Amino acid sequence: MMATKVQYTVDTELSLKLFQEGASAQENFDSSIAGKCRDGEFGIFYQMDRLEAFGLTGVFFVDPMPALVYGPAVVSRIVEPIIRRGHEVQLHIHTEWLEFARDHELSHLRGRNIADFSLDDQVRLLDQARALLMIAGAPRPTAFRAGNFGANDDTLRALSTLGVQYDSSFNPAFLTGECAIDLPPETPPFAEHLGVGIIPVSFIEDRPGSIRAAQLCALSAWEMRDALSHAAQHDWPCFTIVSHSFELLSRDRTRCNPIVTRRFEAMCSNIAEQAKLEDTGFHALSPRRKSSLTAVPANLVRTALRYGEQAVSRIRYEVGIASTIFLNEMAAFESLVAV
Ligand SMILES: [Zn+2]
Repeated sequence: MMATKVQYTVDTELSLKLFQEGASAQENFDSSIAGKCRDGEFGIFYQMDRLEAFGLTGVFFVDPMPALVYGPAVVSRIVEPIIRRGHEVQLHIHTEWLEFARDHELSHLRGRNIADFSLDDQVRLLDQARALLMIAGAPRPTAFRAGNFGANDDTLRALSTLGVQYDSSFNPAFLTGECAIDLPPETPPFAEHLGVGIIPVSFIEDRPGSIRAAQLCALSAWEMRDALSHAAQHDWPCFTIVSHSFELLSRDRTRCNPIVTRRFEAMCSNIAEQAKLEDTGFHALSPRRKSSLTAVPANLVRTALRYGEQAVSRIRYEVGIASTIFLNEMAAFESLVAV
């Protein structure tokens, strides 16, 4: 019996918004990558610490495009510690940075998403981005994820041309968004399409007919645990979770979000404890088993609890108002969802 290979993937990126607001490379790195806030540091170094405490490794999809604006050193400062600590670096791209790149052969190109470019330009951009990532110290990437999940079928053709084996831009819970890859939502956990291995972002059914991505800030600890167990029980070849370098921070990034931090901790312990789950990067992936997709069935109580949890999170950590009564309710609520 083969284990389900769990990919904990972290989109690791500097903030274009902070750049536009005048942040230096150092300030942007501190907030977006190291996750520095008034509660401490909750970015990739914290995430690696906790993954390592559970004997796990993460996959960091690093966007090298800020090198065109800030220079290459800041990307090396991201890539080098990830590699040194035995985690995996893969390729991410946010083409929004092109608009601010100067003296660069491709800086005339404009587009929010990689899918906005012609096939030829996609090949050029992905080749450039890969080179920037490797200059920063990464081994040749074997997997790619588009910024904003904004890939299309030409992106897959471009990856195939460049010999990149896997794409993880297909997000079935996000098909009304910017993902334009022409595949059905019921695409299995591993599929082949246009010469590339498709590793979709996994999801659960939270209400009948409604699916929700396996993203750290989107699922409660209970939902994530059920999703992982379901994948293991149904012999899924892999299960792919999305996160970000700044996922554990409040939206304004001034504070740590303890609810998401606790979900992260619970996820790590679930992966580490379940014998049928094996954490692995794309380098070790050989998900040749075919399987049909049966999503984690809806559980309305579980969904309702997450709605409550999200509301608590928003009010306490985003809006910043909390009455005493509310705090008491929240404590009761948090003990309920911390399962
Ligand atoms: Zn991104």
